[in-house]
Amino acid sequence: MGKRLERVAARVVFDSRGDKTVEVEVTVEGHTARAAAPSGKSRGKREVVPFPEGGPEEAVRVVRDKVVRLSGVELEGLVAFDRLLTDLDGTPNLSSIGGNTAIALSVACATAYAASEGKRLYEALSELVNEVPALPLPLSNVLGGGAHAGPGAPEIQEFLLIPLGAKTMKQAVEVNVVAYRKLGRLLQRELPDFPLGKGDEGGYAPPIGNRKALELVRAAADETSDETGVEVGVGLDVAGSNVFDPRSNRYALRSEGLYLTGPEFKEYLVDLADEFKLVYIEDPFSEDSPELYADLQRDLRSVFVCGDDLVVTRAELIEHQVGRGAIRAAIIKPNQVGTVSLTVDAVRACTAHGAVAVASHRSGETTDAYISQIAVGLGCKVIKCGLIGGERVAKLNELIRIEEEIGAGKIRRLTA
Ligand code: PEP
Ligand code: MG
Repeated sequence: MGKRLERVAARVVFDSRGDKTVEVEVTVEGHTARAAAPSGKSRGKREVVPFPEGGPEEAVRVVRDKVVRLSGVELEGLVAFDRLLTDLDGTPNLSSIGGNTAIALSVACATAYAASEGKRLYEALSELVNEVPALPLPLSNVLGGGAHAGPGAPEIQEFLLIPLGAKTMKQAVEVNVVAYRKLGRLLQRELPDFPLGKGDEGGYAPPIGNRKALELVRAAADETSDETGVEVGVGLDVAGSNVFDPRSNRYALRSEGLYLTGPEFKEYLVDLADEFKLVYIEDPFSEDSPELYADLQRDLRSVFVCGDDLVVTRAELIEHQVGRGAIRAAIIKPNQVGTVSLTVDAVRACTAHGAVAVASHRSGETTDAYISQIAVGLGCKVIKCGLIGGERVAKLNELIRIEEEIGAGKIRRLTA
């Protein structure tokens, strides 16, 4: 028997950058759930449109004028609302209701539906996809630049740590925090005038070149591995589309005075990966150069080359790029596609093709933690959700709560 969608409401709230976003409430069979949408700054070209023309205010109007008409329908399953939403939108890129509006509605509805069955979202999702709930390893942004910081910071967007051998979620977070603090001390030694300012995701944003930044992050990771006994891996999100300058056809590393062609930039990244023992490189190149991804993945067989802007959480793009050997991991950002169902398809595409699914926050976040529930429920091996700042730690604390519910020691590993 179906479950009744009783109420849909929306409001404008603010995200961690102070930008307006949409928050919704959905009631299913007397159970109300709330969800808000995050927003990206380094967005992929193939992502759905985040808001209708007119922005979040217009999105709220669309919910009040159009989506409320769905009240009263009977939902035949956890994600049955998604089809109604995409039909109501009627465009291929969700431009009439907005992908951010859609994801908030989709998540809130699935959460309320799960609650009406006495389940948390992660439990209901794990049943839907036949996965045993387990925790993802946290991949934490500790230093960065690019679109998430001001001028002078590294061009590479994110320098990331992953506690490869952590046995529990609590230990995983603790290890990353130890490394983050060590990095702060190393930065102060290197740049005595740098007041430890941070970028959008809570990582330090120092005026420093990419190579020097990586040297310090590697040193902090090594010291932490020695001190805690947990091996800490190092990774990068290059956000290559933002490093690439289409006018000169070069990857522009201004902080180092380097202006490199695609193949030269590939060699630059191979050298960094070898020298600093990288385990993960996200979006190394422009989203329009998948052949360079494949070249890099071929050169660095043990590294997880990961697609974000390249595949935008779309199952068919993930299948295609994993199939051609361009990537061995894919970022899963639910608002890149706009519904829980399409997010499920994307993770399934990873699992079916032996790629690692990396559930991910956006640079503009709220204190919602449903990305943690999605990561656990769908079987993502890794979660990229930042480390420092209330909106980042909210995701980690939710994982610590889930660990209590499913039992300690059920933590996934970074393996294909
Ligand atoms: C990213 O590129 O992985 C990211 C989180 O940034 P944004 O949310 O700005 O796309
Ligand atoms: Mg990215």
